[in-house]
Amino acid sequence: MYTTDKAKTILKQYFGYDSFRHNQEAIIQNVIQGNDGLVLMPTGGGKSVCYQVPALLFDGVTIVVSPLIALMKDQVDALRVNGIEAAFLNSTQSNAEQNLIISKLQSNQLKLLYIAPERLLGEGSMFINTLKRFAVSLFAIDEAHCISQWGHDFRPEYLQLGELKKHFPNVPVIALTATADKLTEKDILDKLQLHQPKVFENSFNRENIFYFIKPKYNYHFELTQYLRQHKEDSGIIYCLSRASTEALAAKLAEDGFSAAAYHAGLERNIREETQNKFLRDEVKIIVATIAFGMGINKSNVRFVIHADLPKNMEGYYQETGRAGRDGLKSEAILFYSAGDVMKLKHFAQVENNPEQTAVLLKKLNQMANFCESSTCRRKYLLNYFGEEHPDYCGSCDICLSNYEKFDATELAQKALSAVARLNESFGINYVVDILRGSASEKIKEAHKQIKTYGSGKDTSKELWIRYIRDMVSLGYLSQADGLYPVLKLNDKSWRVLKGEEKVMLVKTITYKKEAEKTLAEEAVPHEEDLLQQLKQLRLQFAIDENVPAYVVLSDASLLELASYLPQNENELLQVSGFGSVKLARYGKAFLKAIGEYCKTRQLSGRIHLRKPKRLKKESAERITLKGSTDRVSLDLFLSGKSVQEIAVERKLSIGTVENHLAGFVNSGEISLESLIPKSKIEIIKSKYEELGAELGIKPIKEALGDDYSYGEIRTVVNYYRFWDK
Ligand code: ADP
Ligand code: ZN
Repeated sequence: MYTTDKAKTILKQYFGYDSFRHNQEAIIQNVIQGNDGLVLMPTGGGKSVCYQVPALLFDGVTIVVSPLIALMKDQVDALRVNGIEAAFLNSTQSNAEQNLIISKLQSNQLKLLYIAPERLLGEGSMFINTLKRFAVSLFAIDEAHCISQWGHDFRPEYLQLGELKKHFPNVPVIALTATADKLTEKDILDKLQLHQPKVFENSFNRENIFYFIKPKYNYHFELTQYLRQHKEDSGIIYCLSRASTEALAAKLAEDGFSAAAYHAGLERNIREETQNKFLRDEVKIIVATIAFGMGINKSNVRFVIHADLPKNMEGYYQETGRAGRDGLKSEAILFYSAGDVMKLKHFAQVENNPEQTAVLLKKLNQMANFCESSTCRRKYLLNYFGEEHPDYCGSCDICLSNYEKFDATELAQKALSAVARLNESFGINYVVDILRGSASEKIKEAHKQIKTYGSGKDTSKELWIRYIRDMVSLGYLSQADGLYPVLKLNDKSWRVLKGEEKVMLVKTITYKKEAEKTLAEEAVPHEEDLLQQLKQLRLQFAIDENVPAYVVLSDASLLELASYLPQNENELLQVSGFGSVKLARYGKAFLKAIGEYCKTRQLSGRIHLRKPKRLKKESAERITLKGSTDRVSLDLFLSGKSVQEIAVERKLSIGTVENHLAGFVNSGEISLESLIPKSKIEIIKSKYEELGAELGIKPIKEALGDDYSYGEIRTVVNYYRFWDK
């Protein structure tokens, strides 16, 4: 009988980890009992362990189906470094190589075999029939969403996997994916014909990724400044077009950065070389289109930057998810401009297919909302995928700043009328000079006569620039593309000028000093010089063994070494990532380096400070938004129905519908004013200011009487509480 105790021993012995993460243990238990299962876990969550540990428990071989050849090689390398017998089979290998692997299968020497679906089931089922002669204990289907047309990465070859259960009805199948949505999930279960599968869902929250949205203004300067501060780190910069990846990579290289371009239009050998250099840290920055990434298992990607807007939230989540697989703090930065939205709108037009166009536009709109709203980014992201999250995460640009908004309609009108009077032919700086009544000679005499000249003297130049920039990103003004980003008026500008629309701008943003949330590793400071030495040592091993550095040891393991300074093999074993094979292979060399460092600086070991858990808290099970019933109400509301109408239609109480919608006010999907009349908001707000809500909203309700519902009061109070924070 296989036991979970045994599984734990294997986890420590081969992988060097103290405990299972998320629901790895339950997943493994299900597999070793011989059941089918589907695992939904975010990137970096630790899906591989879910089938690799069972593979080591079982007597026979585990067949891993994986879509990409590059990915296979990496995984197999990583397993071998841990002392596990693994191989892959694919078309790039010679016949002799393939025969060698088959003979290893025959003599039951392999614990894991990686293979592409077409190799497994194609060619008249030849290979799958061969396999029947061997002891197959488990099938693992990695990237299982590739089987679904609804997924973002459909691969027709995956459909053949539907046959698997017919050939091997008694061998358990475990399917794994980092895709969250229900439609894909159902499709995977149907197509794979799994037998009474158990579905394991995890939170899709990536706690170690910090999310930042920045205005795409002065962007190249901001970008290079960031890169300069992160010279030692690996990262990916995503651009929309192939041409812009090449241009940006060249420019960065010129500025002295280690950067290379990657896109599907490059020759295969160049792509492979670039990818390998990146894996081996010889190139630090990849400037890529979204073609780059799926084959990338690199665990120490520290930042993912979007130079252009992603087309939808699914893409954004996936691309940013490539950061921080090792669990260390990583950053996702998106440079946002309203201009990008316009550009993508254009791409979203699918000829002769209005339905698809509408879907694409809606997704784009949700993406733009994400960037423009002042809701916690993590909350918005998780809500989008049907998961709940508190209003505050402490690790996104919104939560790390104090915002105060104000009614800037008058200010905006001044700016817009200046743009109009300058015939929409000047950029931000000139417009601001006009507003501030600059005496500079650059200002044309004629322009000193226009009505708005000097009308914004009271506001500083810096502030004006930021306001106008915000107006652009909020869509109140447009900016021409190309060399001269001249300001242009649009429909929204005219509505503001005519007094039909109000403009709310952020008055002050103050960044709080530091991320309040720190990961456990940072609780004990590390020795930076030692860390650099250890990296060099790791690199040497990587070169000797011809594998990427992170395959030798992850950045997370090195950081632990440099923090806890283990002094002997026993202490070293306590460091995450040191299993018995790695200990035997690398232990001495690392201990020596640490020992010498400690001696010269008179430091002693700190392993007693190490706590076994890596992250502060591992929020496991995901909480689904109450059956998405809220969203049903939202959709009806957005289609123009009133709260009363929705309540009647859905046979719910008005209070319930109000509750549903209130959640979307704070997430920025609907405005407070669209839900509750403005006059009422003002009155509720002033009562709230007068009475507070520490003891609940009942006192406010009693003071206001029957004209105000609990739902209305709660919505307004929550809203202002949110902003006050
Ligand atoms: P996924 O396939 O879900 O993206 P991986 O299987 O590549 O994730 O795992 C991500 C990282 O987390 C790897 O470096 C892996 O070794 C590590 N890891 C997995 N399980 C654990 C665990 N229980 N404890 C510590 N680290 C783990
Ligand atoms: Zn946040």
